[in-house]
Amino acid sequence: MTERTKYVLDETRIPKSWYNPAADLPAAAPARHPVTGRPITPDDLGAIMPRDLIAQELSTEREIEIPGPVRRAYARWRPSPLFRAWGLERALGTPARIYYKYEGVSPTGSHKPNTAIAQAFYNKEAGVARLVTETGAGQWGSSLAFAGAMFGLDVKVYMVKITYHQKPYPKSLMETYGAVCVPSPSQETAAGRAILAEDPECSGSLGIATSEAVEVAIGDSRTNYAGGSVLNHVVTHQTVIGQEAMLQMDMANDWPDVVIGCAGGGSNLGGLAFPFIGERLRTGRKVRVIAAEPTSCPTLTQGRRVYDYGDTVGLTPCLMMHTLGHSFVPPPLHAGGLRYHGIAPLVSQALALGLMEAVAVPQTDCFAAGVLFARSEGIVPAPESTHAIRVAIDEAKRCREEGRAQTILFALSGHGLFDLPAYTRYLTGQLRDEPCDQDRLDRSLAKLPVFAEQ
Ligand SMILES: *Cc1c(COP(=O)(O)O)cnc(C)c1O
Repeated sequence: MTERTKYVLDETRIPKSWYNPAADLPAAAPARHPVTGRPITPDDLGAIMPRDLIAQELSTEREIEIPGPVRRAYARWRPSPLFRAWGLERALGTPARIYYKYEGVSPTGSHKPNTAIAQAFYNKEAGVARLVTETGAGQWGSSLAFAGAMFGLDVKVYMVKITYHQKPYPKSLMETYGAVCVPSPSQETAAGRAILAEDPECSGSLGIATSEAVEVAIGDSRTNYAGGSVLNHVVTHQTVIGQEAMLQMDMANDWPDVVIGCAGGGSNLGGLAFPFIGERLRTGRKVRVIAAEPTSCPTLTQGRRVYDYGDTVGLTPCLMMHTLGHSFVPPPLHAGGLRYHGIAPLVSQALALGLMEAVAVPQTDCFAAGVLFARSEGIVPAPESTHAIRVAIDEAKRCREEGRAQTILFALSGHGLFDLPAYTRYLTGQLRDEPCDQDRLDRSLAKLPVFAEQ
């Protein structure tokens, strides 16, 4: 075993195609029209998405070629580095070998530009003038703003009101890239006005902001919607992470027994894990995959796998996914990127097939893991990413107890430099764990769409 810390690939090794997980999984339950309940058609999505992305959303082809301009844009920061976590291993005294694939090297500090760049490219090609979207913690909004700047598209972002006021820097970043950022719910849309009429103090949610963005896209032929996670084509775009990681694990002469990622909408986890899962399905090469989610928003461990809307109002297609119910508003935990009621249908399907496991972890344990990671590896992780670190540490401790030298690979989906106020709250003992409120969850699950059980 070589004693290297960092595994780097040159630009020519940026993958030439995305891996579509649907190719190796059994046929999935189709997305359904929000009003008629019928399987959606490309025409249904045409009002909010360009043809190429719709084709990818519905595709079962294994490889989807990455267009040249997208690969060139990726080359600004890809291939991303893979690190061996020597410092963390020493701090834990574990025989496990721990690796992490670091996506914080992108211009906005997370994995999200991997799909933002692709979506901006296809929309530009289709003659679209403007993209509209929602953002919770701000990473998706700033990544789309960056991609819009790269391809000459206007970008408008509905940002969950509570984070808009609590986290000012993501908004500054979006505006620096030339995007417009509006707190949601807003008076600009029927969806926002209806919610404010009911509750003028509403602090917003990702589901509400999505309703506003989709409404705007439906109502304007030159404006399209761009999604930051959950959708099939987004997970597919993120597989550049796992494909590169496979080459880098080969360089390290090693291979993961366990692959771990935090799960909000499922895109960084899916992006890292699906290329490994695909290989397992095709060749039988074993790998365990673990999704790490917050106990306060336990979509995979306590939600149900049924049809549900992606937004609060019910404008998006219904997806067969693990969900807490589209009206569920998670408590204001600091990992804003993990505060979503649903999760990618592809990830939900992999869990149902036993190709993945899921673990819920409380936020104070995650911040403890994040601080240990910062002190042993030098990178301050995004609060979302600390969930993956927590589970990786727990696996490494188990290896120590059982005297087994397993190889653990996790996705470090982003850095936490926009989240230092949250670290201060943790370090000064002000952070609390908020369990998921069972009553609210039951009420929300009672409001699933009527054809949810089909
Ligand atoms: C958005 C985000 C997540 C959660 O989204 P997924 O689609 O589940 O990957 C995780 N980590 C970071 C840093 C994010 O910005």
